[in-house]
Amino acid sequence: MGTFKAIRIDKSEAGYQAAFVYFDDADLMDGDVTVRVTHSTVNYKDGLAVTGKSPVVRRFPMIPGIDFAGIVEESSNPAWKPGDEVILNGWGVGETHLGGYAQKARVKGDWLVPVPKGLTRAQAMAIGTAGYTAMLSLLALEQHGLTPAMGPAIVTGASGGVGSIAVALLAKAGWRVIASTGRPQEADWLKALGAAEVIDRNELSAPGRPLGKERWAAGVDSVGSHTLANLLAQTGYGGAVAACGLAQGMDLPASVAPFILRGVSLLGVDSVMCPKPRRMAAWARLASDLDADKLASLTTTAPFASALDSARSILEGAIRGRVVLEIG
Ligand code: NDP
Repeated sequence: MGTFKAIRIDKSEAGYQAAFVYFDDADLMDGDVTVRVTHSTVNYKDGLAVTGKSPVVRRFPMIPGIDFAGIVEESSNPAWKPGDEVILNGWGVGETHLGGYAQKARVKGDWLVPVPKGLTRAQAMAIGTAGYTAMLSLLALEQHGLTPAMGPAIVTGASGGVGSIAVALLAKAGWRVIASTGRPQEADWLKALGAAEVIDRNELSAPGRPLGKERWAAGVDSVGSHTLANLLAQTGYGGAVAACGLAQGMDLPASVAPFILRGVSLLGVDSVMCPKPRRMAAWARLASDLDADKLASLTTTAPFASALDSARSILEGAIRGRVVLEIG
C-alpha cells in the first residue's frame, strides 16, 4: 500500500501510460533530502513526458514534474533542515530521477535552492523552470554586454511560460520589448506585461532570407526552427539571441550570414544542469525584479488532479502563461 499520491509513467507492451497512483516511500530514489512537495507546475517538457511525444523520460517507472517547491521533511545534508522551504529545477528530475508530480520527493540536497526571501512557494512555482529560464536568458544577454540603448528586444512564444515572463523581465530591465505571438487576442495582456509592440508569429515562422532588415538588438527565443533562423537574420550588428526552446522545432535552418556579416551571437541557455551560483543569481534577481501583480496576471492555479490534462494542453500551445499545481 502506497503512502503518498503521485503520477506514475509506465512503459510496457500495453503502451505508454501516465496515471495517478499511491506511491511508497520505499520506492523513492536515493537522495539526502526528503521534501514534502506543496507546488509544482506545468512546463512544456512535462507535456512531452506525460504524453511520451518525445523521449524525455529515460527511466521507468517515472514520476514526471521537472520542478517543485516544498518543505524539507528529513535531511542528512548539512545545508538543509526540516522546515526549510526549497525549490528544485531540473537536474534530470522528472526525466531520470523521480519528479515533482508527487506529494513527496527525495533528491540530492545540492540540487535545491532556497525559496528566495519575498516569494511564497506558490509564487516560486508560478515562476518555475520557465521563469527561471527566462531570467537565465536575460542574464546571458546582459553578460554578452547588450543594453537597452542598443535597440529593442524580441521575445518569441510570448504568451507561453518562458515568453510571458521574459516579456515582463526585459521590460523591467528597460528594454523596448517586441512580443511575437500566435495569439493576437492576448495582445492587451502582453502589453500590460510590458510589451511595447506585439507582432504575429507568422512573420517569423516560415523559411526566410539569410539576412533581413535589422529589427532588434536582442532576442529571447523559446521556439527554435525557422523562427530562430529569422530572429538571427533580423538581429542588428553585434546583437545576440538567447535560444532556450523548441516549441516550433528542434531544427535550426539558418545560414552563417548573421554571424559572419553582422557579428551576431547565438547564446545557448540550459536550465537543467546550470551551476548553482548562476541559479542562485537568477532566483535572487527574479525575487527582486518580477512584479508580483504581473506574475499573478500570467498565473493560473489548478488542483493536482488536473495535472495530466494541463500537461497535454501545453503541447497544443493552449496554456497562457504559467499553471501552478497545488500538490500537497
Ligand atoms: P509554453 O507552451 O508555455 O510556451 C511555448 C509557446 O511557444 C507557446 O505558448 C506559443 O506561444 C509558442 N508556440 C507553440 N507552438 C509553436 C509553433 N509551432 N510555432 C511557433 N510558436 C509556437 O512552453 P514553455 O514556455 O514552458 O517552454 C517553451 C520552450 O522552452 C519549450 O520548447 C521548452 O522545452 C523550452 N524550455 C527550455 C528550457 C531550457 O533549459 N533550455 C527550460 C524551460 C523551457 P504563442 O501562442 O504566444 O505564439
